Amino acid sequence: MYQKGRAWIELDMNHLKHNTEQFRLLLPSDCHLMPAVKANAYGHGAVLISKELQEQGVESFCVASVGEAAELRRGGITGEILILSYTHPDQFGDLIAYDLIQTVVDRSYAQELQQDGRRFKVHVGVDTGMHRLGERWENIEEIAEIFRFSNLAVTGIYSHLCVSDGMTALERDYTFQQIHHFEYVVEELHRRGIWNFKCHLQGSYGILNYSELCFDYARAGIALYGILSGKKDAVNVKADLKPVLSLKARVESVKMLYQGECAGYGLTYSAGENKKIGVLSIGYADGVPRSLSNCGYVLCNGRQAPIIGRICMDQMMVDLSEIDSVKAGDEAVLIGRSGELEIRAEDMAQWAGTITNEILSRMGERLERVAV
Ligand SMILES: *Cc1c(COP(=O)(O)O)cnc(C)c1O
Repeated sequence: MYQKGRAWIELDMNHLKHNTEQFRLLLPSDCHLMPAVKANAYGHGAVLISKELQEQGVESFCVASVGEAAELRRGGITGEILILSYTHPDQFGDLIAYDLIQTVVDRSYAQELQQDGRRFKVHVGVDTGMHRLGERWENIEEIAEIFRFSNLAVTGIYSHLCVSDGMTALERDYTFQQIHHFEYVVEELHRRGIWNFKCHLQGSYGILNYSELCFDYARAGIALYGILSGKKDAVNVKADLKPVLSLKARVESVKMLYQGECAGYGLTYSAGENKKIGVLSIGYADGVPRSLSNCGYVLCNGRQAPIIGRICMDQMMVDLSEIDSVKAGDEAVLIGRSGELEIRAEDMAQWAGTITNEILSRMGERLERVAV
């Protein structure tokens, strides 16, 4: 089936490969990438991206749910898959069927896994200060005890940094505290004769801002896709990262909007003068934030076309008055390059008042994903 008929995502796998290589240069040689491919690989397409990463030698992945992990297995991913959050006891069977690693979200969850009777591979979550998942770092006896549960094969422990993107003294101090808490847990386990486990702590910003750290895995997400969370974010290392994803849609129709006429739901845009407008076959159901109504622009034939009126579920409208050559059937670029111009995911996120992680992870099911 033709994949670029309506609205689609183009994936530049050379850029993905480039980013993987950049991270490998940045990380200590014995630290392995464990890409975060949750939320459909941040909208890029989980199986497409993971297969490409697998070909590049990546052997470990992390996802948010057992369903996401199963999709990867069915798609031919053979490496380790860690589930970063809760799995319901009724789904424990899938952990075994698909050979997955489950996060122990706290001590009572370890007991639930133990009591199931089957044997599970797990990594123990440690709460070092984010206060989301994990057993508290101070509870070293409880953490050590999880290693002694007969039905749990504990192959790793990990924690998560919550302000590693921040550069203020306060944020840096907090992150160093989290790092120290994590290292303390590792040392205390060693002191108790527990050695045979892997450790991991860093996500993208942990890698980019604390690249001196040396753990067994690094859970790179957003930056592996070649972008940062926010347009204004600064990072400590000079990594050359290239965006993997472009978002494109067709111009369905080009028409006039005469002076004084309004366009779209709610009549939120009115033409101050005669305008040539274009209707694009993409909308908020595809992941274009509705908050971009009358805000920001798309690219057509290398020129900016401002968004006008409300974003609809399946369509949106743009002002083509300044662009001579556009006709129905042409491509519009919502994220990516057109001629000399580029809209970055960071730009769209800024217009929408959010971070790129949210924009990308909400890219719609309906978009075709095309590797180029
Ligand atoms: C999503 C997630 C990551 C990846 O985060 P990025 O900031 O996108 O690199 C890493 N670790 C955990 C626990 C996560 O939930």
